[in-house]
Amino acid sequence: MDTRALDIIRGYNGRPIRVMEVCGTHTHAIFKFGIRNILPDNIKLISGPGCPVCVTETGFIDEAIYLAMEKGATITTFGDLVRVPGTEMNLAGARAKGAKLKIVYTPLDAALYAKDHPDEKVVFLSVGFETTVPAACLAVKKAKEWGVSNFSLLTANKTMDEAYRVLKGSADAFLYPGHVSAISGMGILRELRDEGISGVVCGFTADEILTALAIIVKKIEKGEPFAENAYPRVVADDGAPIARKLIAETMQPCEATWRGIGTIPESGLELNGEYEAFDARKVYGVPEMHGQPNKACRCGDVLMGRIKPHECPVFGKVCTPEHPIGACMVSSEGTCSAYYKYDLG
Ligand code: SF4
Repeated sequence: MDTRALDIIRGYNGRPIRVMEVCGTHTHAIFKFGIRNILPDNIKLISGPGCPVCVTETGFIDEAIYLAMEKGATITTFGDLVRVPGTEMNLAGARAKGAKLKIVYTPLDAALYAKDHPDEKVVFLSVGFETTVPAACLAVKKAKEWGVSNFSLLTANKTMDEAYRVLKGSADAFLYPGHVSAISGMGILRELRDEGISGVVCGFTADEILTALAIIVKKIEKGEPFAENAYPRVVADDGAPIARKLIAETMQPCEATWRGIGTIPESGLELNGEYEAFDARKVYGVPEMHGQPNKACRCGDVLMGRIKPHECPVFGKVCTPEHPIGACMVSSEGTCSAYYKYDLG
């Protein structure tokens, strides 16, 4: 363990500070390494909305079920979306009623499946931030090159920059997700700094998290907004230009609805005009759907750092990883699943 960073953190005796770990992987790592337990009382960690499955609206699951049940599409997806509740059922429930569901490990697997099964309408559920979007972009590019016309994306992709702006004031500083910054680079974080939003790009080992927290403590003592990179072994200053070029070639910014946050202009990504033949909403005429989450679920408040999962009345009682009521308990990156695993309260 980085004892120098730990000394800086434990020696902090300034005003109380709140640090938001934006990313669900950080939430789990912080619990796993017991970092909350070694922080002084005047440094509080709060969990934010950086789990892509958790911020995906209930209506998206309803759209996927519509495509499967009404249009006969084969839904291809990563496994953690399967048990996220829709308004009436989840995808596992739809499968029990006859929907065709296939778990894949990459979007390209889904495109290849479509190529090999020309008689099926194959839809990939494209959920994720900057980190995973390039893989979906590559899949549609390849499908176009191969002349595969039975493959499409149902998109709920999001980008973090606008969300940071909406979250301004929720915390004194952010632990920025290293894998997102590996794509987007430091430029956007410097823009945020100039708007008064502070944070440090952070890796996922105990030492990397402690180092980032120590930097936050030191910078807050100086009293100036900051944007620092504590994960330089992975995050280059200009990020990954090739991945961003791939995104720019295939997708365009759009308004996106975030569970718990609401609608944020320009915070989503959808396929652009050149690739609209791969946009499942357009191909199959999906009607607009306004999903209704379970009324008991407080995922929105959890995602905004307003409450801890223990404060949700159904946490650990009715809502468990075996029987999740909300997305935050389903996803392997979800805040409620992290608390259920490490801190039942
Ligand atoms: S404990 Fe379950 S119901 Fe409550 S906020 Fe978390 S996911 Fe939603």
